[in-house]
Amino acid sequence: MHKLTELQFDNTYARLPAAFHAQAAPTPFRREPYLVSFNAAAAELLDLDPDEAGRAEFVEYFSGNKILPGVESLAMLYAGHQFGHYVPQLGDGRAILLGEVRNKAGAKWDVQLKGAGPTPFSRGFDGRAVLRSTIREYLCSEALHNLGIQTTRALCIVGSDEPVRRETIETAAVLTRLSPSHVRFGTFEVFHYRGQPERVRELADYVIANHYPELEGDQDRYERFLREVVLRTARLIARWQAVGFAHGVMNTDNMSILGLTIDYGPFGFMDDYRANFVCNHSDHGGRYAFNQQPAIGLWNLSCLAETLLSLIEREPAVAALDAYQPAFAESYGELMRSKLGWRERRQEDAELILSLLELLEANGVDYTNFFRRLGDLKSETHGDDGGNGDSDNDASLRDMFIDPAACDVWTARYRERLRAEASVDDERRQRMNLTNPKFVLRNYLAQDAITKATAARQRDFTEIERLLELLRRPFDEQPSMERYAAAPPEWGRRIAVSCSS
Ligand code: AMP
Ligand code: MG
Repeated sequence: MHKLTELQFDNTYARLPAAFHAQAAPTPFRREPYLVSFNAAAAELLDLDPDEAGRAEFVEYFSGNKILPGVESLAMLYAGHQFGHYVPQLGDGRAILLGEVRNKAGAKWDVQLKGAGPTPFSRGFDGRAVLRSTIREYLCSEALHNLGIQTTRALCIVGSDEPVRRETIETAAVLTRLSPSHVRFGTFEVFHYRGQPERVRELADYVIANHYPELEGDQDRYERFLREVVLRTARLIARWQAVGFAHGVMNTDNMSILGLTIDYGPFGFMDDYRANFVCNHSDHGGRYAFNQQPAIGLWNLSCLAETLLSLIEREPAVAALDAYQPAFAESYGELMRSKLGWRERRQEDAELILSLLELLEANGVDYTNFFRRLGDLKSETHGDDGGNGDSDNDASLRDMFIDPAACDVWTARYRERLRAEASVDDERRQRMNLTNPKFVLRNYLAQDAITKATAARQRDFTEIERLLELLRRPFDEQPSMERYAAAPPEWGRRIAVSCSS
């Protein structure tokens, strides 16, 4: 375990040509920084001794007030398609890469301070992040990780009472984000659209050498690289769809070259199922609606493919993109079958899944809770309910529907499907409980933690700790935490989350 000042930096990105980045140093806070939350699970990735979080210097280093030895801080350059339109230059406007820490297992983690002040790419904005948005990213990235979904990680939040102007005056915070890489589709785009194919090649070589080493030296490495990004992205988005997660701002600058969830803004977990759920208040056209995510994933990948056309022929590039749809369908089907507790793959599955989703939507049923309760359903009906599914074991499921009779029609077909594969109830329930979370980061839960944390002068961060702990084990029954599995109360339904952060 390392002390803070013993972290081993190995800054490969800083050694790329100057065109890839700009020097940027954190701006110290004028108001004293304080620790909001520390995540020991992420510290482990750096071999960082968790006791270090208790030292006064910890907040100095992770606010950006002090610089760790070995740091070569920089802002990464990128561009991106935002809501379908190309923006020629973005770059880290408020994130500063301190460098890459290599852990004793040989894994390399970018350590980035998000909200540490302006950089040469800030475009006139303040380079800061508000406490509210850092809490959302911090909790959600850890929640997705614990759900088995690829994502950046979060080490800590450090706050400061320095005022930050958004719709109102809020206070500032710095989120320390960890990722194997922060390279985005937009990092390729910026050089492609500037007409610098040699830079595109350097970047591709860098990403392959550092993150796709199995492709190095292969004659077809660029093709295979594109195909690999296509597959990873398809599988990532399949996981989002299966768990009911909407990213909210799937611009190409928010798409990771490693197929990780990155840049948490106005994301949302669905409560009641709605196919065209839009979590981003500013997304009026619904471009990034829940049910658009798979198609947008492909659209974004075609932007990436475009940038690689100096390295690969059009035909293999198109072939790589053509792998997206089948990979998504395969992965999503697999995940949904496992959510439904099916072991076998059958002809009628797709139709049964689709009709379920339509039914959930028509009845305003909570997505997470439905699947969790479905695990308790018995494959045989008992008692004198005349086959209407009115026995005790499915009363709690039926109660979730406005039209319980419609639920019965579907569960009758579902039971038939279970019996067809000789499903064993107890065993199936156990399996389903490992794939259908009991707890997700519902908007109202995050909002509650934010309200407590941002109440004037209270500095009450206990709810953040509670949620972090809860969401570490999303599949476990945690009896004392039962209320955190509840669908939102009236105030917590349809919370509008804006892009401002
Ligand atoms: P986002 O929507 O958070 O992914 O940000 C889009 C772009 O705007 C990125 O290049 C950010 O670095 C930049 N950006 C967002 N907020 C700020 C801010 N407060 N100051 C400077 N740049 C920002
Ligand atoms: Mg972004």
